[in-house]
Amino acid sequence: LAQIQLLTQPYGTEASLERDNWTTDSRNGQGFKGHGMIAPFTPGWQIADVNPLVIEKSEGSYVYDINGKKYLDSLAGLWSTSLGGSEPRLVAAATAQLNTLPFYHSFWNRTTKPSLDLAKEILEIFTARKMGKVFFTNSGSEANDSQVKLAWYYNNALGRPKKKKIISRLKGYHGSTLIAASLTGIPALHQQFDLPVPFVLHTDCPHYWRYHLPGETEEEFSSRLANNLENLILKEGPETIAAFIAEPVIGSGGVILPPATYFDKVQAVLKKYDVLLIADEVICGFGRLGTMFGCDKYNIKPDLVSIAKALSSAYVPIGAVIASPEVSDVIHSQSNKLGNFAHGFTYSGHPVACAVAIEALKIYKERNILEQVNNISPRFQDGIKAFSNSPIIGEIRGTGLISGTDFTDNKSPNSPFPPEWGIAAYFGEMCEKHGMLVRVSGDTITMSPALIVSPEEVDEIISIFGKALKDTEDRVK
Ligand code: PLP
Repeated sequence: LAQIQLLTQPYGTEASLERDNWTTDSRNGQGFKGHGMIAPFTPGWQIADVNPLVIEKSEGSYVYDINGKKYLDSLAGLWSTSLGGSEPRLVAAATAQLNTLPFYHSFWNRTTKPSLDLAKEILEIFTARKMGKVFFTNSGSEANDSQVKLAWYYNNALGRPKKKKIISRLKGYHGSTLIAASLTGIPALHQQFDLPVPFVLHTDCPHYWRYHLPGETEEEFSSRLANNLENLILKEGPETIAAFIAEPVIGSGGVILPPATYFDKVQAVLKKYDVLLIADEVICGFGRLGTMFGCDKYNIKPDLVSIAKALSSAYVPIGAVIASPEVSDVIHSQSNKLGNFAHGFTYSGHPVACAVAIEALKIYKERNILEQVNNISPRFQDGIKAFSNSPIIGEIRGTGLISGTDFTDNKSPNSPFPPEWGIAAYFGEMCEKHGMLVRVSGDTITMSPALIVSPEEVDEIISIFGKALKDTEDRVK
């Protein structure tokens, strides 16, 4: 087992802050310690003890903090600012809409033109299979909560009141509202929240490197997981299982690509037991993987799709559910019977958000964003994967413009570093020192730069990654 110097305290505690000349406490958020926000996904001690990083301005692939320090934002916000941080056409679209109609709702068959136009555009741009209708939300979590309600409404309409359970996967991330957090397969989102709710079941995480048996091929691993899924459905009773939800590539759970033949085999099982397939495209959608949707890349034919983030390049909050004609037809006829489809949000189809999203989709087409991603991604993937032989890295994986790195000892998924060493956290801190922001989660770091990232910026990402890796290796002897 490798030895590490000094890192005896959890990352970020007072003792560990003394370990280096540069720490995140050198940040310039002085004066904001103990601030007034309940900060999302932030330990309480950080708010009390560590200065927050306060971002003030963005420009292309970069962001600037309140003292003017520049960072290459290798995560594009939260896997979201796909057109970079200063696209004037998105600003113009928002401004024009704000000047004409800053708000009107879409309840009771009253609506706005931007929401109708955007629904039409989304149905045209999603071609993995023919879809029927779009329902607008404000976020990915709301989209996934709505998915569960739609699946229930659909099965009630079909006279199948028992068919209500939802299966998701360990390490899948689907958001943080009550149901979306339940769908998420990450324990931290459940602990102390009394989650998951009982009708959500979790099946295997499809991470081949971490979970395959000795000698098992990717195809065999996929068969075993599909078999486990089938056994779970049979154990619970197929008449109780409404839907299965999956990200084409797991994002926040650590950038986990599906092993060969995985989605073919899973889809065959779902079809056999009449279980709806919900594709969570919140990260993968709109070019991130080099295809317009993850469903295109992995030949997924979903019944329902969740989108958000890059739909508006994150300039304004918007998400949506795309429903197949079969599902939307059932929902329409049932709502006719009931006299109403009683689900929606004040801001469903917000005209400013829709106007920005329409412009974002136009830009993706006009600038041929897929060609751009496919031209640049080998430089990004090969550049980062070149560090795979580092003795403290277990696996580097990715596709298109998304990448994940696991730090482990002995190149093995079974030799984690002691969590209190905070290896990935230290790496993240060193990236920040050298002027780049990455996502740190346990001993995994992830990146997903803006889709407009230039070759020079990719080289900068690789160079800073290399420097931070060297710093981190130097800590581990
Ligand atoms: N689904 C996926 C795949 C996500 O990555 C996220 C957020 O990261 C969500 C859903 C939740 O989206 P939001 O944070 O907009 O609620």
